[in-house]
Amino acid sequence: MARNTYNVDEDLEKGFDISQFKRSFVYIRRYKKPLIIAFIVSIIAIICGLILPLFTEHAIDTYIPDKDIKSLLIAGAGIVLTVIAQAICNKVRSRTVTIAGQSIIRDMRRDVYEHLQKLPFDYFDSRPHGKILIRVINNINSVSDFLSNGFISMILETISLVLIAGFMFYMHSGLALVVLCGFPVFGLFMFAIKKAQRRAWQIQANKQSNYTAYFSESINGERVTQGFAREKYNSDINKDLAAQASKGYVDAVSLNHAVWPVTMIISKFTIYLLYIIGVIYFRDTLKVGIIISMAAYAGRFWNPIQNISNQYNQLITTMSYLERIFQLLDEPVTVTDVPGAEPLPDIKGDVEFKDVLFEYEKGIPVLKEVSFHAAAGESIALVGPTGAGKSTIVNLVSRFYNLKGGQVLIDGHDISKATLLSIRSQMGIMLQDTFIFSGTIMDNIRYGRLDATDEECIAAAKRVFANDFIEKLPNGYQTVVNERGDMLSAGQRQLLSFARTLLSDPKILILDEATSSIDTNTELLVQEGIKELLKNRTSFIVAHRISTIKNCTRIMYISDGEIAEAGSHDELMEKKGYYYDLYMSQLTNE
Ligand code: ADP
Repeated sequence: MARNTYNVDEDLEKGFDISQFKRSFVYIRRYKKPLIIAFIVSIIAIICGLILPLFTEHAIDTYIPDKDIKSLLIAGAGIVLTVIAQAICNKVRSRTVTIAGQSIIRDMRRDVYEHLQKLPFDYFDSRPHGKILIRVINNINSVSDFLSNGFISMILETISLVLIAGFMFYMHSGLALVVLCGFPVFGLFMFAIKKAQRRAWQIQANKQSNYTAYFSESINGERVTQGFAREKYNSDINKDLAAQASKGYVDAVSLNHAVWPVTMIISKFTIYLLYIIGVIYFRDTLKVGIIISMAAYAGRFWNPIQNISNQYNQLITTMSYLERIFQLLDEPVTVTDVPGAEPLPDIKGDVEFKDVLFEYEKGIPVLKEVSFHAAAGESIALVGPTGAGKSTIVNLVSRFYNLKGGQVLIDGHDISKATLLSIRSQMGIMLQDTFIFSGTIMDNIRYGRLDATDEECIAAAKRVFANDFIEKLPNGYQTVVNERGDMLSAGQRQLLSFARTLLSDPKILILDEATSSIDTNTELLVQEGIKELLKNRTSFIVAHRISTIKNCTRIMYISDGEIAEAGSHDELMEKKGYYYDLYMSQLTNE
């Protein structure tokens, strides 16, 4: 899978793809009712707005010259009632459109989130998380704004345009034609800038995405940044990306901003043309009220046009965002249940690799026909140089990736034909950088089994020696920690994750042992915790500490995607091969 970083733009969408828009109707359709209400009240508001000049025209041309006070009062009351009706309709529209818009956001986010959770690790490995985040937050917001509001506005503005033209023709067809003559000029202008406008918004979306990617990476890597005193260097990158994002925005909106003056010029020009032609050609038949009302209509005629051109901008950004959102939703779930997949029964924990071939990137083999058998209850230490394939082996036990060849069997069942849920729910996985979720310590332990009682959580913590440090925290088990568990030491985070795993009582345990050094006291507790965890289950440990390795029933030395040596500690020491060298060098170091 091609990899993307914060300083690489994503591919620009090719053409204007209307199918993306059609697809978005799935979301619009669910909120037909509020959207239809919004549409109807908007039409009423438009008609109210159009009736107003009629009252004015009658007042100026008839009631005032006739000094007809009664009719003038009725016209005044008509104006007030029409304005109130218009205001109520606008209020109803805002509310219904907001409800529909927020519902569309909620539905899209739910779909994207549910899909993200099914995606294979490759997807997350291949792009910055900030670029995923911006799709879920910003892009969905903009898209829903258009789908719920902008789209209706575009239709309404078009209707409004037709209605205004209708009213103008009703009032004076000759003058109406004068106003319409500005239309082709405006059309030509829009056609000329259309392509540049679309490009500019696509570039802006890319630059914004790059900026978010870098920002999100910076928050996650803040400790390393400060540790290496890279603040100045990173600030410069940030400044540069922020400048690119700002420039992208300024370029895009300056094209939009060109539309307004052009519309204004055409609008004013047609109004003056209307006065001139009115005076020259219709001098004898024309009343002042008609000229004033026609000028009012001519002024309004250009409002919907301007609004449509703004909505059009929103439409093209929406298209490019929709494309990104649907791209994410279409991302294939490659690691999934095959048709007819059966759930694994309750397992004993017997694991067998049969000639397993695996590669992350096509053509670069990472595991080369790995075969071994781990009987239920065995603890297997995986040792060897970095990049040899140890973590890959343990990832394949949990079926995080698909194999290129061979089989992984659990209790004799090929796991590629078993349901993912039945595999992973019987497995406990603890990665090197223990992840702590935001919430209380108790919530974090309960993550292992949601229906566990407080007592069961505390009992698990006690068994892995985590209880002592938890009780010393300001609020004990109710102490709130953030998602990185900043207030806990590395060792404490490990003990906490041991408690979480013990609670879930998996039959197979996978442990990527942390390499970070921890104080001797906690180290002893961690070792005791691991011993407790290993009881009554099959375990695979990517082990770094001699004490852990020695406690395992079997050691596999992995080198360059193959098992170079396997056996107990004593057997391998006697053999005086790779493991012996590793052991002796660690012993010397320690
Ligand atoms: P170990 O755990 O022994 O240090 P790994 O199993 O993590 O080694 O990695 C084995 C090889 O696979 C390495 O060459 C590594 O660069 C590569 N690798 C690991 N993870 C990925 C990944 N997500 N995408 C591509 N290559 C990977």
